[in-house]
Amino acid sequence: MAELLQLLRPHLQKLVPYSSARDEFSGEAAVFLDANENPLGSATLENYNRYPDPYQYRVKRMLAKIKCVEQEQTFLGNGSDEAIDLLIRAFCEPGQDHIIILPPTYGMYKVSADINNVEVRELLLSSDFQPRVEAILEAANAQSKILFICSPNNPTANLQNPEAVRLLLQSFPGLVVVDEAYIDFARVNSWTEKLEEFPNLVVLQTFSKAWGLAALRLGIAMASPEIIAILNKIKPPYNINELTQERALNAMRNFDKMEMHVKLILHERERLVKALEDLALVEKVYPSDANFVLLKVKGARQVYEYLVKQGIIVRDRSKVALCEDCLRITVGTPEENDLLLEQLALYSA
Ligand SMILES: *Cc1c(COP(=O)(O)O)cnc(C)c1O
Repeated sequence: MAELLQLLRPHLQKLVPYSSARDEFSGEAAVFLDANENPLGSATLENYNRYPDPYQYRVKRMLAKIKCVEQEQTFLGNGSDEAIDLLIRAFCEPGQDHIIILPPTYGMYKVSADINNVEVRELLLSSDFQPRVEAILEAANAQSKILFICSPNNPTANLQNPEAVRLLLQSFPGLVVVDEAYIDFARVNSWTEKLEEFPNLVVLQTFSKAWGLAALRLGIAMASPEIIAILNKIKPPYNINELTQERALNAMRNFDKMEMHVKLILHERERLVKALEDLALVEKVYPSDANFVLLKVKGARQVYEYLVKQGIIVRDRSKVALCEDCLRITVGTPEENDLLLEQLALYSA
């Protein structure tokens, strides 16, 4: 663990974080005159005149139970995107350190690094969209502070081979971030089970996909208490607003409903894949462990533009490495999927 803290940017080891009114006093009291809040409330919303809990204890208590981790192992961000940004800012010295990403993958790792003037080293996945472990470890050195592994991967939709991830966790010199935004659509256990075994592991999840709450902006990072403490130290004091905390609690109380939605989406995914495979313009549907599919078609750009004209927007990924002529299609409602399939059948006809 001492080693882990050596990965941290030196100036943060001495950082004195902002101390909010709620940090300095968090108990019960009759009168709160410590945070310059408006005691009368707002014109339109009730009970939002007080600053929210900066550490989101109620949300974390319920979340920790659902995820089978300790509260001290959980961090909440304004989307996973905030956690990605904070991890880069905490561990990567601009102009000196770098991150390693495995394209084709989620775009925010590179954008966040670029914003922070942190170098990005890219090691393409293999042709079957798996990490090339030897090449990654060969490219890594003491300045390799973070390796981002997305599993199931966006946009390829597949899980990353667990043996490869394990080897990387064992031998990569920096943090290994496993982004599990789509884990609820995969029939495997989360890497959170291995948090005790690998102190350099960070698992990202989100309320944006399976939970159906993308608009709330609530992302989850799970890691050793030491890493979580670092994120807490550098985050904006009140990064998760009160409405988001309340709605997330409500969603978690209705866990069954989320599971029902996931089941329906998985059922639709299977139906969509089968129907797509029958279309003449579809050359290949890649196996999916997520709520979207990647498919290779004849003339992806033309198919994309045709669908736009029909009012159906999919993602053209044909310019992305290893994804020539590929479209990424989110699994929609049964009606939406029918519309898509109908229009694609007309296109091929
Ligand atoms: C959608 C997605 C996220 C979610 O980001 P939020 O900021 O939590 O909405 C994270 N990682 C990947 C790979 C995604 O596709």
